[in-house]
Amino acid sequence: MHIGIIGGGIIGLSSAYYLHKAGHRITVFDQGPIADGCSLGNAGMIVPSHIIPLAQPGMMAKGMRWMLKSTSPFYVKPRLNADLMRWGWLFYRHSTPEHVERSIPLLRDLSLLSKTLYQDLAANGDLDFEWQERGLFMLYKTAAAEREMAEEAEVANHAGIEAKMLNGQEVQDFEPHARVDVRGAVYYPGDAHLNPGQLIHSLVTYLSKEGVTFLEKHPVTGFGTTGSRITAIHARGSHEVDQVVVACGAWSPEMAEQLGLKLSLQGGKGYSFVLQNVVNNVRVPAIMLEARATATPMGSDLRFAGTLEVAGTDMQVNMNRVRGIVEAINQYYPEAPVAMPAVERVWRGLRPCSPDGLPYIGRIQKYENVILATGHGMMGLSLGPATGKLVSEVVDGPSKSMDIAAFSPERFA
Ligand SMILES: Cc1cc2nc3c(=O)[nH]c(=O)nc-3n(C[C@H](O)[C@H](O)[C@H](O)COP(=O)(O)OP(=O)(O)OC[C@H]3O[C@@H](n4cnc5c(N)ncnc54)[C@H](O)[C@@H]3O)c2cc1C
Repeated sequence: MHIGIIGGGIIGLSSAYYLHKAGHRITVFDQGPIADGCSLGNAGMIVPSHIIPLAQPGMMAKGMRWMLKSTSPFYVKPRLNADLMRWGWLFYRHSTPEHVERSIPLLRDLSLLSKTLYQDLAANGDLDFEWQERGLFMLYKTAAAEREMAEEAEVANHAGIEAKMLNGQEVQDFEPHARVDVRGAVYYPGDAHLNPGQLIHSLVTYLSKEGVTFLEKHPVTGFGTTGSRITAIHARGSHEVDQVVVACGAWSPEMAEQLGLKLSLQGGKGYSFVLQNVVNNVRVPAIMLEARATATPMGSDLRFAGTLEVAGTDMQVNMNRVRGIVEAINQYYPEAPVAMPAVERVWRGLRPCSPDGLPYIGRIQKYENVILATGHGMMGLSLGPATGKLVSEVVDGPSKSMDIAAFSPERFA
């Protein structure tokens, strides 16, 4: 079959990889250069530890408090917008213990499947992406955060994800070069990290060599249909296809609307910047908990990332939020040589956030040959290979790797 994939981020490219391996002919369409989506400058963390969805009890209240400070890690740009209000209402309705309990095994199984696939990809020689299995720290400085983290560690251990509470000295023992100033951390030994830019370039290079067609600067503007089938993708001309995969990240609602589906999804803007050639580099990737910022070693570089601004598809850089990340770093890593980066050195990306914190993966009712794959929020890099594999299984028959009913794109319709 000829399969048109709309979107060249980690989700579209992972789908292309597994569909190509299954023997299909693939064309990937992207509105921009492939290297411009959310999948490039992110924190590079592969996080089976993240089994609790963002929609959780207490998150609304925490978000409201954070919104009052211009350097805070979370912000909702106030807009009188029906989609944003519906998203907020659905988020609120899912911030319950029952939803968290239902989501934990789903996110865990999807994440563990993805990690296994990453291990295969790192070993099979197709790709090169600096795969490292050193775990992840959730660093904290306060007793309140320690209590919160101890609860999360208990939930993780109960779900079969190993989590260890460490004190400040034990954290330092993991870091031979970088000085760390924390009260303690939860250490998740099963987490990993990679270089996301290198992964995306490596996927494009490998797939191009294998005969996959990439149409960059080809925004998809519509479809040709016959009855309940999409027969063509319109992008600077008409391209005949047998199946369509929509993996447009934060722009997916616009594409879904053209396909008769009201998809609840908001862009969650975040920023990153890189310190190059760090002499005493960090060894273990970390989330600086109170600041909701991250530090990830990538070779001799160190990438910092953070903030979540629910801002639709607005791509402007807000330097106040970046300052919030910069100001937090030396509180955890007192000797990191960090300074405010120039605006052109700040990367920004839009996380495609569903209101319940679960991705959308599956077919839609109106057109029998369309599959949606989006809504991975803060975990799209982690969940990419599993999503690509599941998409290929949906195309070729009933899903085998896991039940995807809970990820239905039409669950809020
Ligand atoms: C600061 C930050 C840090 C993060 N850290 C991590 C992390 O450590 N671990 C993790 O797992 N996740 C992380 N994430 C989340 C992760 O980056 C995203 O979930 C993931 O990149 C989403 O991938 P995607 O393929 O769905 O979207 P994208 O990468 O945005 O790709 C979508 C593509 O669709 C294209 N497109 C849209 N509309 C059209 C159209 N009409 N026609 C053609 N093309 C179109 C876009 O141009 C884009 O290239 C982070 C995100 C941010 C912002």
